[in-house]
Amino acid sequence: MHVTAGVDFGGTNIKIGLVTRHGRVRQETVLPTQACRRPAAFVERVGVAVTSLLQRERRPCRLDGIGIGAPGLIDAAQGRIHRLVNVPGGWAGVALGQLMSRRLRCPCIVDNDANVVALGEWRFGAGRGAAHMVAVTLGTGVGGGLIIEGRLVRGATGSAGEVGHLPIRPDGPRCGCGSRGCVEAFVGAWALRRRAHALIRQHPGSVLAKLVARARGDFTPELLSRAARAGDRHARALWRDVGVELGQALAGLVNVLNPERLVIGGGVANAWPWFAPSLQRTVRERAFEVPARAVRIVRAQLDDRAGVLGAASLIWEQEVK
Ligand SMILES: [Zn+2]
Repeated sequence: MHVTAGVDFGGTNIKIGLVTRHGRVRQETVLPTQACRRPAAFVERVGVAVTSLLQRERRPCRLDGIGIGAPGLIDAAQGRIHRLVNVPGGWAGVALGQLMSRRLRCPCIVDNDANVVALGEWRFGAGRGAAHMVAVTLGTGVGGGLIIEGRLVRGATGSAGEVGHLPIRPDGPRCGCGSRGCVEAFVGAWALRRRAHALIRQHPGSVLAKLVARARGDFTPELLSRAARAGDRHARALWRDVGVELGQALAGLVNVLNPERLVIGGGVANAWPWFAPSLQRTVRERAFEVPARAVRIVRAQLDDRAGVLGAASLIWEQEVK
């Protein structure tokens, strides 16, 4: 039996799975990122973990390759890390693809985690069957990935698909990337925290204020959804704004790329019922009529499996070249 290994390298955990061509995860395990945050430790521990997953299989199993989705700027063509976000440990310039390939004696492809999620959803999730797809991951940051003509688009230096840093308001709030008014500066979880706290100051008696106080001030987007569900009109208005802001950026992408599908995932996408209607409306109002009518805006389907499945798919994507 042939399998590929998919590695989802996150800030807290490293998820590893053996995946078949049909998208079945046969074996999986999780390592704490803390123990693998230096390149040499990562290569060694992931190498050991993949080998022991292979040994769990009763029948002989051939490893066709290993794909890694990592958080940061990656040169996928070279398998080299430019810079990782939220993982300290001297990764700049590390040729991870080459090191891992040598360790496991099989091909290794490394790519940005948002690209990998897009690939996973396209092959096995909400993007199946679409030749043109945009995936948006709403989390602490806002990531994205583009599939055009059935191929993942990486751009000249590997950073294509950074949907979160489309500017929607030139005088908007400062963004983590150094620019201003990016989508992420409005709808990233860190921006939602700032906006929720501003709401709480204005409306100290609101449901949201009570929920955040009960959580000892520890805001999560989930609290904002719970407040909306409980009828807090300020929380609902904030989610409506989020839909409009996201919709503005996505309307531009619909005009530029004419995708069949827009797939929205990530933790913040759990608030779908609260922001999707204004998002859909904004895209309809702002994009050209024909592409706006053609595009289906849907929720991601794979949740936290997208990383492992997409990373494993990097190997098959390579084959069709
Ligand atoms: Zn930005």
